[in-house]
Amino acid sequence: MVITQPQAQPAVDALRTAITQFDNAAERLNLEEGTRAMLRRCKRELSVHFPVRMNDGSIRVFEGYRVQHNLARGPAKGGLRYNSNVSLDEVRALAMWMTWKSAVVNLPYGGAKGGVVVDPKQLSLGELENLTRRYATEISIIIGPDEDIPAPDMGTDGRIMAWIMDTISMHRGHTTAGVVTGKPVAVGGTLGRLEATGRGIQYVVEELSKDNGIGLEGSTVVVQGFGNVGAVAAQLLRRAGAKVIAVSDSSGALYNGEGLNIDSLMAYQKDRAPLSQAAGGDHLTNRELLSLRADFLIPAALEGQITAENADEVKARFIVEGANGPTTPEADAILAGNGVTVVPDIVANAGGVIVSYFEWVQDLQFYFWEESEVNERLHRVITRAYRDVRTTAAQQGISMREAAMMLAVGRVVEATKLRGIYP
Ligand code: NAD
Repeated sequence: MVITQPQAQPAVDALRTAITQFDNAAERLNLEEGTRAMLRRCKRELSVHFPVRMNDGSIRVFEGYRVQHNLARGPAKGGLRYNSNVSLDEVRALAMWMTWKSAVVNLPYGGAKGGVVVDPKQLSLGELENLTRRYATEISIIIGPDEDIPAPDMGTDGRIMAWIMDTISMHRGHTTAGVVTGKPVAVGGTLGRLEATGRGIQYVVEELSKDNGIGLEGSTVVVQGFGNVGAVAAQLLRRAGAKVIAVSDSSGALYNGEGLNIDSLMAYQKDRAPLSQAAGGDHLTNRELLSLRADFLIPAALEGQITAENADEVKARFIVEGANGPTTPEADAILAGNGVTVVPDIVANAGGVIVSYFEWVQDLQFYFWEESEVNERLHRVITRAYRDVRTTAAQQGISMREAAMMLAVGRVVEATKLRGIYP
């Protein structure tokens, strides 16, 4: 009899990565077993199965989730992912990372995440709206401006957030703008949210450059993933004077040692055209892209991209994690051994949740800010978090990921202890 080994699922790896990172921090903080057991698990996990009427008149049943990992520091906050590979374990890992991300940048939020198992590109606009409104209704029992505030993530965008806001508002009988963030500006969104994650990455790269005596002008950047996070980060770093030598999407990578024209690639990609067919450089695979020599490598696609198998091939000096969980714990150890510095996801990509927080505050006050104010405040919050993490890492002789996790977990534990265990 031949027993075939089941293939490792990326989502299972994401949860394993998240729990290993937490366990390491718990060990360093010497947390008691009961506290570890509490924080290793998600507090609330809602699974929903719901029908959607399709264009051809048939009914299709979809599966979705909303998971709240921890609420000790405030309402739950985290994105919604529409992707065929979404699973409960992936959502759990992403919810856990949101708790640490909110804590490390000191926002008054807990962590959550949600998702629907669907390839949104296969749906018509009407089907996408029906799916979104029904999913929003299913999870309406646990979301709300004081309870849990979703936002966009892979496969979702401002239009989807507007449908969710409208659906919840219809149920409650009044406009409830603060129930989701990442909305278009016309319906309670904030200026600067669309670019926030990429802009935060730019600010972190600028700090990193200053710390290491690298002039951003002429430095080389490689970006994996050319979506909301990766494309904006590439564009802003290009404008700040860096040379973006390679970018990729799920179809493959484009490389030009003289620097790519990011503005024209963004225009090319507007109609979802694949980078594997774009002009302006040589075509590489995503694996080849990850091993290019550069100052900064920005993985901004999926989790589990830099692993024990390819970490040794990384030739970048710094990795700035745009995606959530792109590096496995085994890869972290290899990179550290090779002298590659990693700025962890929970700091590097926190620009999105920081400006989401600003959007929520503006919605609750019905008072909106200038874009310059949003960007200045983002700069202040993310650079302070980066410096706290860098200082802790240097003082304790540990990696920035370990330092970020120690700070984040320590803050959540402090809130938990102050609140006490109910009843
Ligand atoms: P997106 O859907 O806008 O873009 C994802 C990009 O990754 C696309 O270009 C896609 O083609 C590419 N991609 C998918 N699979 C790939 C693969 N195997 N190899 C290379 N490229 C691949 O998503 P996004 O909002 O930019 O999110 C990207 C990552 O950043 C995710 O991990 C997300 O959780 C994280 N993140 C997003 C935000 C945000 O504000 N949107 C904030 C923080 C973190």
